[in-house]
Amino acid sequence: MTTTQRKPADVSEKQARRVAEAARESEWRKPSFGKELFLGRFRLDLIDPWPGPEPRPDADDFLARLEAYVRSEMDGAAIERDARIPDEVFHGLARLGAFGMKIDKEYGGLGLSNLHYCKALTLVGSVSPAVGALLSAHQSIGVPQPLKIFGSPAQKKAFLPRLAAGEVSAFLLTEPDVGSDPARLGTVAEPVEGGYRLNGVKLWATNGTVATLLVVMARVPDKGITAFVVEGDAPGITVERRNEFLGLRGLENSVTRFHDVFVPEENVIGGLGKGLRIALTTLNTGRLSLPAMCVGAGKRSLGIAREWSAQRVQWGRPVGQHEAVAKKIAFIAATTYAMESMLDLSCLIADDDRNDIRIEAALVKLFASEMAWQVADELVQIRGGRGFEKADSLSARGERPSEAEQILRDLRINRIFEGSTEIMHLLIAREAVDAHLSVAGDIIDPDAGLGRKARAGARAGAFYARWLPTLAVGRGQTPAGYAEFGPLAAHLRYVERASRKLARSTFYAMSRWQGKLERKQGFLGRIVDIGAELYAMSAVCVRARAERRERPEGAELADLFCRQARLRAEALFAALWDNTDALDVKAARRVLDGRYAFLEEGTVTPPSDKAWVAGWQPGPATVDDVRRRIPPPS
Ligand SMILES: Cc1cc2nc3c(=O)[nH]c(=O)nc-3n(C[C@H](O)[C@H](O)[C@H](O)COP(=O)(O)OP(=O)(O)OC[C@H]3O[C@@H](n4cnc5c(N)ncnc54)[C@H](O)[C@@H]3O)c2cc1C
Repeated sequence: MTTTQRKPADVSEKQARRVAEAARESEWRKPSFGKELFLGRFRLDLIDPWPGPEPRPDADDFLARLEAYVRSEMDGAAIERDARIPDEVFHGLARLGAFGMKIDKEYGGLGLSNLHYCKALTLVGSVSPAVGALLSAHQSIGVPQPLKIFGSPAQKKAFLPRLAAGEVSAFLLTEPDVGSDPARLGTVAEPVEGGYRLNGVKLWATNGTVATLLVVMARVPDKGITAFVVEGDAPGITVERRNEFLGLRGLENSVTRFHDVFVPEENVIGGLGKGLRIALTTLNTGRLSLPAMCVGAGKRSLGIAREWSAQRVQWGRPVGQHEAVAKKIAFIAATTYAMESMLDLSCLIADDDRNDIRIEAALVKLFASEMAWQVADELVQIRGGRGFEKADSLSARGERPSEAEQILRDLRINRIFEGSTEIMHLLIAREAVDAHLSVAGDIIDPDAGLGRKARAGARAGAFYARWLPTLAVGRGQTPAGYAEFGPLAAHLRYVERASRKLARSTFYAMSRWQGKLERKQGFLGRIVDIGAELYAMSAVCVRARAERRERPEGAELADLFCRQARLRAEALFAALWDNTDALDVKAARRVLDGRYAFLEEGTVTPPSDKAWVAGWQPGPATVDDVRRRIPPPS
């Protein structure tokens, strides 16, 4: 590293937590099914009956036109092969209004509900996940959503019509030194006459190579991290690279440099220092778009598995009739039904706006990204050698070019971006233990004095005296509980009992580890994963009952899913107290200290003198701009 290179910020763990905590929305103004679930209160009434979507003939019409377009005009295989979304696809989608799906009609958008928007993403993503990611990054995290929630009327008027008409936007938070931990943010916005001057380098911005409007997170001295709308071709911006990945080959993802970029003060979104709060709030519903892509992948996987497993005969039977393969097919079908049910339910309760859905959206993001990956992995296995072969190669040999390996590769990133699984565990766990932290906060705070501790002790005593008895009994113990769900009632009784057990387990953990609980990531991860299974079980039961007339076979999938989920939940409950967590932490420390380096012997490491995380030099770009300008339609 040269001396002029910018060094990573020196941020302690405590500071990093403080920044994340300050950005957290701590208030709950509306009821939350997820929050209650973790507190041992199974509030089925918040999600049942299945909320009926508002009739939207215009949205149905849009979906029909979108489907016709993606069927006839979008070539997913070509996008994968060329690692490029053709200009015509940008134009075609713009003509349909797809860049304005989430933008209100008064600004030229379609004003779709979350449900219709996610259906559109599932549809597009099933043909090309890269195009799905383009649309989702543009409106779930790009300029439209933050402006919708936090933008001033003037900002909405200035920018939203452009975006609805087909201009592309991107969201730029990540930097070489800033991944999951935004406290290290190095991009600076210095106040100058009439606005701010931005300097910094942003990494991995999806749509960054094509976007004409950007949301940029930058640190304003003494004010904190702030969100700005920035014109993509403002002087001083250079798109330095288009990045390449394991999957999503068509993604237009950039390294973008800001050198003395002037941004007028009216482009600050939501006020100085509000950047992280904006990012987190945007993601409350923004997180729904990623599971929409997972649902698409699940549906594609099911279709391929069904056709292939019936046709391919080995050892005297179609492979789908061998038990080992049959189990995988059943898993794919049940899990796809569950991902879709969870997503649709989360969208519907977001749309009817009666509930706070931040926990549900986070649970469905976590669950769908993890489970879709397993679904695709099982699909590859079912396809045998053909599962590992590229679609073009299959086609060249005269076989059906099914894209199992691409589905797997394209899905992998979902467990990392928009909140990695590890960060989602912590984020949801923070809400799950919030009740305990807010009553016991000062008891476990090492900096609190004796007086504060005593007052907190009294508060906690009163809270637990009321709360703990409610965890002893519930409707899940009554044999006739939830009888209106017929054969699925037993599953809901299980969810009710398991929810109370979950809360009791969290309480025991809190009493045992107190403030150290936040470091017990193995334990917290399992608590959250159990919560996700319980939410998924609830969603499938409520949906199956709602659709019992038009789709009675849904109850079979709901039952199957619940049985599979229950086994997973029970294994997680057992592992709460019987695990190798402490041993693993010790072993990892030893690995990091080099104690087991002998295990790496006998392999060759390619030589490199490059750093694991590259620093960056402030100043003008020293490489050419590789921005891709989409020409207007001819
Ligand atoms: C294809 C792609 C598209 C992207 N698009 C965008 C975009 O449009 N805009 C944007 O701003 N960013 C984008 N990103 C960045 C993405 O959001 C980050 O990759 C993600 O936030 C994780 O950060 P990181 O990769 O630096 O991982 P790190 O933060 O370095 O984490 C490394 C590992 O440690 C784990 N970890 C980190 N902290 C903790 C902790 N406290 N406890 C437990 N585990 C922890 C992580 O889960 C991960 O497994 C994109 C990335 C990719 C690859």
